[in-house]
Amino acid sequence: LMQLSVPLNFIGFIYREIRQGLTDIEQMFDLLDVPAEISDRPGARPLKVAEGKVEFRDVHFAYESNREILKGISFEVPAGKTVAIVGPSGAGKSTISRLLFRFYDIKSGQILVDGQDIRDVTQESLRSAIGMVPQDTVLFNDTIAYNIRYGRVDASLDDIREAAELAQIGGFIQGLPDGYKTMVGERGLKLSGGEKQRVAIARTILKAPPILMLDEATSALDSHTEREIQAALDTVSRGRTTIVIAHRLSTVIGADEIIVLKDGRIAERGRHADLLSKGGLYASMWARQREATEAEERLRQAQEAD
Ligand code: ATP
Repeated sequence: LMQLSVPLNFIGFIYREIRQGLTDIEQMFDLLDVPAEISDRPGARPLKVAEGKVEFRDVHFAYESNREILKGISFEVPAGKTVAIVGPSGAGKSTISRLLFRFYDIKSGQILVDGQDIRDVTQESLRSAIGMVPQDTVLFNDTIAYNIRYGRVDASLDDIREAAELAQIGGFIQGLPDGYKTMVGERGLKLSGGEKQRVAIARTILKAPPILMLDEATSALDSHTEREIQAALDTVSRGRTTIVIAHRLSTVIGADEIIVLKDGRIAERGRHADLLSKGGLYASMWARQREATEAEERLRQAQEAD
């Protein structure tokens, strides 16, 4: 029996290694979410990022030919500025971020980065210029250090620590039993949505891209976590061209421009105070959100009183 148990253990070991490898690859494809049909055009050059200006010019797009999702979207994000995109579910907000990454090609119009049409540059150079902080970050079944290093594979442990501090997650990691060596992911320590988002921010700080695409989590955060995440986002977006799909008041208040999308069109645009005073879609969205927040707050207080 002993003779059999060694090879069996070995097979178990190989199996686990392969499983882990598969999980990484699967998750990587999930992360990249790349449909196969997009390819570099012959002679595509690397994107040259001078300052990082992003421009959508009369963009029309459909996933399926008979249903247009974006119906003529134009906006500009000047270098280093922040544009927030808000609007009801299904309006096309995430689609805008997918198009900037060129996961799909548009039907008509142009998407430009520093004046270069993104269809004329290599996808690799385009994607390396954009940092993405998704709503729900996929964690690899590996250490927390590995998960942060994913932003820049040659980063040292000191770089990782610094990025984690800036992302407001350093203290949390140090408090874990194995610190940066703690295993996370499905088979390790499960992190909350807010913690995962800060891991993604730390990754992005390491990557240091000129352009940032943030997709805020819709789920409610307690006010302490919200402040921490906002501080982390402020750090990572400082001096970078930033597009944020915003769900929180704290984000949109500081944005240089807010774009209100509805049914694939820009319904309203401007700064927070201007839009509020207009009393339109934006104003009613925030009024509704405020009511919801207040109701939650009352519920929490009632539960605490019990
Ligand atoms: P939410 O706030 O709910 O995330 P959103 O404004 O980000 O919504 P999008 O994800 O951009 O909305 O989706 C816009 C529309 O495009 C939706 O009607 C959606 O059903 C459709 N859509 C999204 N992805 C695909 C896809 N891969 N194939 C076909 N239709 C899609």
